[in-house]
Amino acid sequence: MSEAWPRAGKAAAGDNFLAGGPGSGLASSVVKPLTEPEIRAAFVNCSKGEAKRASIPRDLSGQPWEDLDFLGWRDPQSPERAYLAAEIDGKLVAIVLRCPGPGPLQKKTSMCSFCLTSHSGGVTLMVAPRTGQAGQQGNTVGDYLCTDLACSLYVRGKKAVRGLGGRRAERLTPEEQAERLMANLTAFIVKVTG
Ligand SMILES: [Zn+2]
Repeated sequence: MSEAWPRAGKAAAGDNFLAGGPGSGLASSVVKPLTEPEIRAAFVNCSKGEAKRASIPRDLSGQPWEDLDFLGWRDPQSPERAYLAAEIDGKLVAIVLRCPGPGPLQKKTSMCSFCLTSHSGGVTLMVAPRTGQAGQQGNTVGDYLCTDLACSLYVRGKKAVRGLGGRRAERLTPEEQAERLMANLTAFIVKVTG
Protein backbone atom coordinates (compact mmCIF):
# COMPACT_ATOMS: atom_id res chain seq x y z
CA MET A 1 0.00 0.00 0.00
CA SER A 2 2.78 2.38 0.86
CA GLU A 3 5.28 0.94 -1.57
CA ALA A 4 4.37 3.51 -4.15
CA TRP A 5 5.75 6.40 -2.11
CA PRO A 6 8.11 8.19 -4.47
CA ARG A 7 11.56 9.09 -3.28
CA ALA A 8 12.19 12.74 -2.68
CA GLY A 9 14.69 13.93 -5.24
CA LYS A 10 17.91 15.54 -4.13
CA ALA A 11 16.34 18.89 -4.95
CA ALA A 12 13.92 18.35 -2.06
CA ALA A 13 16.70 19.06 0.40
CA GLY A 14 17.98 22.08 -1.50
CA ASP A 15 17.54 25.73 -0.63
CA ASN A 16 14.66 26.21 -2.99
CA PHE A 17 12.64 23.29 -1.73
CA LEU A 18 9.78 25.58 -0.78
CA ALA A 19 9.54 26.90 -4.29
CA GLY A 20 7.85 23.80 -5.64
CA GLY A 21 4.76 24.52 -7.66
CA PRO A 22 1.45 22.67 -7.67
CA GLY A 23 1.86 18.93 -7.64
CA SER A 24 5.16 19.00 -5.80
CA GLY A 25 3.55 18.21 -2.46
CA LEU A 26 6.27 15.91 -1.29
CA ALA A 27 9.13 18.26 -2.08
CA SER A 28 7.39 21.16 -0.40
CA SER A 29 6.69 19.32 2.82
CA VAL A 30 10.05 17.72 3.56
CA VAL A 31 12.19 19.52 6.12
CA LYS A 32 15.76 20.15 5.08
CA PRO A 33 18.55 18.56 7.14
CA LEU A 34 19.07 20.58 10.31
CA THR A 35 22.11 21.27 12.46
CA GLU A 36 22.27 21.53 16.24
CA PRO A 37 22.90 25.32 16.27
CA GLU A 38 19.99 25.85 13.86
CA ILE A 39 17.65 23.87 16.11
CA ARG A 40 18.82 25.58 19.35
CA ALA A 41 18.34 29.01 17.77
CA ALA A 42 14.82 28.09 16.60
CA PHE A 43 13.20 27.38 20.01
CA VAL A 44 10.31 29.76 20.56
CA ASN A 45 8.61 28.61 23.76
CA CYS A 46 11.38 28.29 26.30
CA SER A 47 14.13 30.42 27.85
CA LYS A 48 17.51 30.81 26.16
CA GLY A 49 19.01 28.69 28.91
CA GLU A 50 16.53 25.91 28.29
CA ALA A 51 17.21 26.05 24.56
CA LYS A 52 20.92 25.74 25.32
CA ARG A 53 20.38 22.73 27.57
CA ALA A 54 17.79 21.02 25.37
CA SER A 55 18.72 17.51 24.36
CA ILE A 56 19.31 17.54 20.59
CA PRO A 57 19.65 14.19 18.80
CA ARG A 58 23.34 13.36 18.47
CA ASP A 59 22.85 11.55 15.22
CA LEU A 60 21.43 14.45 13.19
CA SER A 61 23.25 13.40 10.04
CA GLY A 62 21.75 9.93 10.36
CA GLN A 63 18.12 11.10 10.39
CA PRO A 64 15.96 9.97 7.45
CA TRP A 65 15.59 13.59 6.30
CA GLU A 66 14.12 12.81 2.91
CA ASP A 67 11.14 11.19 4.66
CA LEU A 68 10.66 13.80 7.41
CA ASP A 69 8.10 16.57 7.28
CA PHE A 70 9.41 17.66 10.67
CA LEU A 71 11.95 16.50 13.21
CA GLY A 72 10.46 15.26 16.47
CA TRP A 73 12.33 13.58 19.28
CA ARG A 74 12.21 12.57 22.93
CA ASP A 75 14.82 13.46 25.51
CA PRO A 76 16.42 10.10 26.32
CA GLN A 77 17.40 11.41 29.79
CA SER A 78 13.99 12.86 30.68
CA PRO A 79 10.97 10.85 29.56
CA GLU A 80 8.71 13.82 30.26
CA ARG A 81 10.39 15.99 27.64
CA ALA A 82 9.92 15.99 23.89
CA TYR A 83 10.78 18.42 21.13
CA LEU A 84 9.89 19.14 17.55
CA ALA A 85 11.31 21.34 14.84
CA ALA A 86 9.52 22.25 11.63
CA GLU A 87 9.75 24.74 8.85
CA ILE A 88 6.67 26.99 8.96
CA ASP A 89 6.33 29.53 6.14
CA GLY A 90 10.00 29.08 5.35
CA LYS A 91 11.10 29.70 8.94
CA LEU A 92 12.42 27.02 11.26
CA VAL A 93 10.42 26.81 14.51
CA ALA A 94 11.38 24.49 17.38
CA ILE A 95 8.99 23.73 20.24
CA VAL A 96 9.55 22.29 23.71
CA LEU A 97 6.89 19.76 24.76
CA ARG A 98 6.14 18.18 28.11
CA CYS A 99 4.57 14.79 28.54
CA PRO A 100 2.60 15.05 31.80
CA GLY A 101 2.47 11.30 32.29
CA PRO A 102 0.27 8.38 31.34
CA GLY A 103 -3.34 9.36 30.89
CA PRO A 104 -6.29 7.06 30.35
CA LEU A 105 -6.00 7.43 26.57
CA GLN A 106 -2.48 6.07 26.52
CA LYS A 107 -3.59 2.67 27.75
CA LYS A 108 -6.03 2.02 24.97
CA THR A 109 -5.72 2.53 21.27
CA SER A 110 -5.81 6.19 20.43
CA MET A 111 -5.04 8.36 17.47
CA CYS A 112 -2.29 10.89 16.85
CA SER A 113 -3.69 14.36 16.10
CA PHE A 114 -0.94 15.10 13.59
CA CYS A 115 -0.80 12.00 11.39
CA LEU A 116 -4.05 10.19 12.39
CA THR A 117 -2.19 6.96 13.12
CA SER A 118 -3.73 4.84 15.88
CA HIS A 119 -1.51 3.04 18.34
CA SER A 120 -2.24 1.07 21.46
CA GLY A 121 0.04 2.67 24.04
CA GLY A 122 1.91 4.60 21.37
CA VAL A 123 0.11 7.92 21.67
CA THR A 124 1.09 10.41 24.36
CA LEU A 125 -0.43 13.66 25.59
CA MET A 126 2.14 16.36 24.82
CA VAL A 127 1.78 19.87 26.11
CA ALA A 128 3.61 22.94 24.84
CA PRO A 129 3.94 26.12 26.91
CA ARG A 130 2.70 29.04 24.82
CA THR A 131 5.10 31.78 23.84
CA GLY A 132 5.20 35.26 25.37
CA GLN A 133 2.95 36.49 28.12
CA ALA A 134 0.45 33.68 27.69
CA GLY A 135 3.20 31.18 28.43
CA GLN A 136 4.42 33.17 31.43
CA GLN A 137 0.90 32.94 32.81
CA GLY A 138 1.09 29.18 32.46
CA ASN A 139 -1.00 28.77 29.31
CA THR A 140 -0.28 25.67 27.30
CA VAL A 141 -1.47 23.86 24.19
CA GLY A 142 -1.81 20.08 24.34
CA ASP A 143 -2.58 17.27 21.96
CA TYR A 144 -2.28 13.51 21.69
CA LEU A 145 0.66 12.70 19.43
CA CYS A 146 2.68 9.66 18.36
CA THR A 147 4.89 8.92 21.37
CA ASP A 148 8.00 8.77 19.18
CA LEU A 149 6.92 11.76 17.01
CA ALA A 150 7.73 9.67 13.94
CA CYS A 151 4.50 10.78 12.22
CA SER A 152 6.27 11.37 8.90
CA LEU A 153 7.44 7.76 8.82
CA TYR A 154 4.00 6.35 9.69
CA VAL A 155 2.38 8.39 6.93
CA ARG A 156 4.89 6.97 4.44
CA GLY A 157 4.60 3.41 5.75
CA LYS A 158 8.30 3.52 6.71
CA LYS A 159 7.71 2.52 10.29
CA ALA A 160 5.44 -0.19 11.62
CA VAL A 161 2.76 0.78 14.13
CA ARG A 162 3.33 -0.69 17.58
CA GLY A 163 0.71 -2.92 19.09
CA LEU A 164 -2.84 -2.74 17.88
CA GLY A 165 -4.11 0.08 15.77
CA GLY A 166 -2.64 1.20 12.51
CA ARG A 167 -3.56 3.48 9.71
CA ARG A 168 -6.99 3.51 8.14
CA ALA A 169 -7.16 2.92 4.42
CA GLU A 170 -7.40 6.37 2.89
CA ARG A 171 -8.20 7.85 -0.45
CA LEU A 172 -5.52 10.47 0.05
CA THR A 173 -2.14 9.80 -1.50
CA PRO A 174 0.85 9.67 0.85
CA GLU A 175 1.77 13.14 -0.43
CA GLU A 176 -1.65 14.46 0.51
CA GLN A 177 -1.44 12.74 3.88
CA ALA A 178 1.94 14.40 4.45
CA GLU A 179 0.38 17.74 3.56
CA ARG A 180 -2.44 17.12 6.04
CA LEU A 181 0.15 16.17 8.66
CA MET A 182 1.92 19.50 8.09
CA ALA A 183 -1.38 21.39 8.18
CA ASN A 184 -2.21 19.80 11.57
CA LEU A 185 1.28 20.48 12.89
CA THR A 186 1.21 24.07 11.64
CA ALA A 187 -2.16 24.64 13.34
CA PHE A 188 -0.65 23.33 16.60
CA ILE A 189 2.38 25.60 16.34
CA VAL A 190 0.19 28.61 15.50
CA LYS A 191 -1.77 27.92 18.72
CA VAL A 192 1.53 27.85 20.64
CA THR A 193 2.94 31.02 19.12
CA GLY A 194 -0.26 32.95 18.40
ZN1 LIG B 1 1.62 10.91 14.56
